[in-house]
Amino acid sequence: MPNANLKICLYGRPNVGKSSLFNRLIGKKKALVLDLPGVTRDVYRHALNLNGHQLELADLAGLEQAYSQQSSSLHLLKSLSAKAALDYLRSSDLVLFTVDARSPISDEDEYLARQLRSFGKKTLLVLTKSENHQVEDQAQIEYAKLGFGYGVATSAEHNLGIETLRETILENLALSQTNTVSTDEVVDQHALKGTTIHRPIQLGVYGRPNVGKSTLVNALLGEHRMITSAIAGTTVDAIDSDFKQGDQYFRILDTAGIRRKSKTEAGVEVLSVVQAIKSIEKVDIALFLIDGYEGVTDQDEKIAGEIIKSGKPIVLIVNKWDICKTKKEVYAEKIREALGFLDFAPVLFIAAEKNDGIDLLWSLINEILSQRHLVVNTSELNRFLEVLEGANNPLGARIYYASQTSKNPPTITILVNHPDKIHFAYERYLKNELKARYGWLASPLKLVFKARKRSASKKSLSRNH
Ligand code: GDP
Repeated sequence: MPNANLKICLYGRPNVGKSSLFNRLIGKKKALVLDLPGVTRDVYRHALNLNGHQLELADLAGLEQAYSQQSSSLHLLKSLSAKAALDYLRSSDLVLFTVDARSPISDEDEYLARQLRSFGKKTLLVLTKSENHQVEDQAQIEYAKLGFGYGVATSAEHNLGIETLRETILENLALSQTNTVSTDEVVDQHALKGTTIHRPIQLGVYGRPNVGKSTLVNALLGEHRMITSAIAGTTVDAIDSDFKQGDQYFRILDTAGIRRKSKTEAGVEVLSVVQAIKSIEKVDIALFLIDGYEGVTDQDEKIAGEIIKSGKPIVLIVNKWDICKTKKEVYAEKIREALGFLDFAPVLFIAAEKNDGIDLLWSLINEILSQRHLVVNTSELNRFLEVLEGANNPLGARIYYASQTSKNPPTITILVNHPDKIHFAYERYLKNELKARYGWLASPLKLVFKARKRSASKKSLSRNH
């Protein structure tokens, strides 16, 4: 297995709940590790299977003990258990820095954070004992000070956040898009036997009849080698197309029978548009087509209104550009007026039939893929918002703290004095500025404003008041 050697370790002060988290992650109910003071432990390792990936998880208990000895001025490396733990830390691919959500930052946490930083290891902050939102919100604010960004909130006792943690570990190890071969992945099983393959990136093509969806699908498939045909057991119309481009597997969904066309009465076509939209929950990127010659119609607006609800990245494609005479800029402005709510979607002009613009579409798709796992650094985000607090803020809202709370769609939760002081123009301004700075190409950015009373210790981000 290519991932057999990937190592993850739990790192944190005593009693933050590392052992319970360890057991939850490896799927054992009973504690493997006893927290007895004075018992020498060094590195507890266990195989960890995440989504088919064989990894190794370790609890660096020896290190924790050695650090506490260090504070009583014993030399760190004198302890053998510390050496084993340090070696493990050095060779880890990801460190789960565990902190107790119910306690404030302790000196030990700060000490461990400094040590960890000196190793330069990829680190994921994990909040333990986080059983409700109040605890989590407070802890996010508190532990952001350590500079490791937004924490994954968990409660091993109540099995909360463990799935998110598993997913986030995979994402951090760049394994999120991979999966072992399973029955619904129709691939050349023989050729790929024993290896791990990538989960295909799923593309959905949406638009009213005759805008050129089939033509676009064919153009996208182009010369690519198809690696599957019909998938048994799904709907009759489903002829998804799987193919590989570079190292990436793609799948173009065809729930509406785009490729198996049947020019029947309008009623049936409408039904398949509705079916197609249902598939959006599965897609990674939605390609929304309009007919450039005919312009935006009511039905286009309805389809756009449906796909936008998914929060997925959307590319707005104007097809049949070969027979249009308008200037692109003029046309783009018209579309923006008609479909204003799609303002985050890049607009691309193509002629699918002539294969014009397909290369550009691929570049755009790859750029979107590279940006969709972006999580902004919390302290950087807060510094940036500090700059934005003073401008275009007619109702004088105060921003206290912000952090990215979701990736898909990108969501930023902002603690403010009063959410009703967020003027819609100010919200739009914040969104535009944040998107201009961080990207999230083609994705709608969601801002969530939450009220938070100003306390003596928590000042507004602005310095001058
Ligand atoms: P679908 O119903 O959305 O799948 O649309 P089709 O792919 O079947 O295309 C509908 C019609 O538009 C066909 O007659 C195509 O030949 C034509 N068409 C598709 N793409 C283009 C294009 O880029 N330029 C022009 N001029 N016609 C196109």
